Amino acid sequence: MSATTARSRPIQMPFLEGPRVLDPDEPAAGEITRYQVTKYYRDLVAASPYRDQLKHIVEPSLQELASPGELDTSGEADNTVVTGLQHKYAETGLLLVTDRCTSYCRYCFRKRIVGKDSDEVAPDYAAVAAYISRHPEMTNVLMSGGDPFVLSTRKLNAILDHLLPIPHLTSLRFGSKTTAFFPQRFHDTELPGLFARILEAGKTPIIVSHFDHVGEITEEAATSVRMMRDLGVQYLNQCVLLGRVNDDPQTLAATIARLHEIGSRPYYVFQGRPVRGASHFQVPIRRGLEIVRGASQQLSGIQKTFRFIMSHYTGKIEILDIADGRLYLRYHQSPRPTEIGHIFSRPYVEGACWLDDMPQDRPEPSDDRTLVRTP
Ligand code: SF4
Repeated sequence: MSATTARSRPIQMPFLEGPRVLDPDEPAAGEITRYQVTKYYRDLVAASPYRDQLKHIVEPSLQELASPGELDTSGEADNTVVTGLQHKYAETGLLLVTDRCTSYCRYCFRKRIVGKDSDEVAPDYAAVAAYISRHPEMTNVLMSGGDPFVLSTRKLNAILDHLLPIPHLTSLRFGSKTTAFFPQRFHDTELPGLFARILEAGKTPIIVSHFDHVGEITEEAATSVRMMRDLGVQYLNQCVLLGRVNDDPQTLAATIARLHEIGSRPYYVFQGRPVRGASHFQVPIRRGLEIVRGASQQLSGIQKTFRFIMSHYTGKIEILDIADGRLYLRYHQSPRPTEIGHIFSRPYVEGACWLDDMPQDRPEPSDDRTLVRTP
């Protein structure tokens, strides 16, 4: 079917505000993320005491048609070195292995890819492996997308065929929200063999789970984490600070505490990105700091293993504090290693949700854009 034919078909969507048929000529209609939610997650939301919060994760809103922003907020195109492989930070390769997910999050920062037939997914893993082999500084690969666990275990094994022989890779990560959307995936009897291969190759398998709300961490989800941990898989969790979902200290603290309990170490709490069609989820940075600080005040030291991070075009920036009208930040990760650890500040503009919402009035570590990368 031609793109024109697909585009001219009316799009029916069950928006939170009520069902609506999108006019295919509306510019936003062509960009709106596919609506798909697993039965497991739909049932979970319907029965949850947190229904009003969880529904915003997967149910579309008409606000998506009007939210301003960009489709590539962290420079993924600029950091792509081989189709499907990004090399922004020296030690880490980011590999797009699929454009599909079990369910689609309305706030996804890869709206440009997910649920579509994207040409950004790696088509040639031999070429990917050849690049990584030439870069001994790369010690780990994060498989992402989309969600790697929508792929069959056979397909994941085929990707590993290319990655496991590379001696300088010490860990392989899978970024996945499947633990929240479809934990039954981890009952696949072929998965123990997949993780055993990684361990036998001397590498550490890591699943970066993506629970945003304590209501997503069901017994089924906890069981799947326990099963994978018993196989030697390490777990980290990243979540996004989301308006109307988890933007209060109690919810964030309960989520972090529950993650600690099930053994998925809280890792990043991300500031929402100014993504076109999803920027209505952003929480102003001042409020974000209040939430993160308020949550931290309810947690023990061993639970507070996360950082509040803005994943910006220039690097991963830890959001520290607002003092004397200035927002203080620190490079946590950067393509230019000399920036890492440096604190800098900008005059805080009330309501600002992103670094670029505030003027730069002083030299900053990232002003030196010199980056030497061998091909
Ligand atoms: S599961 Fe991940 S990649 Fe897929 S829509 Fe959600 S946030 Fe985006």
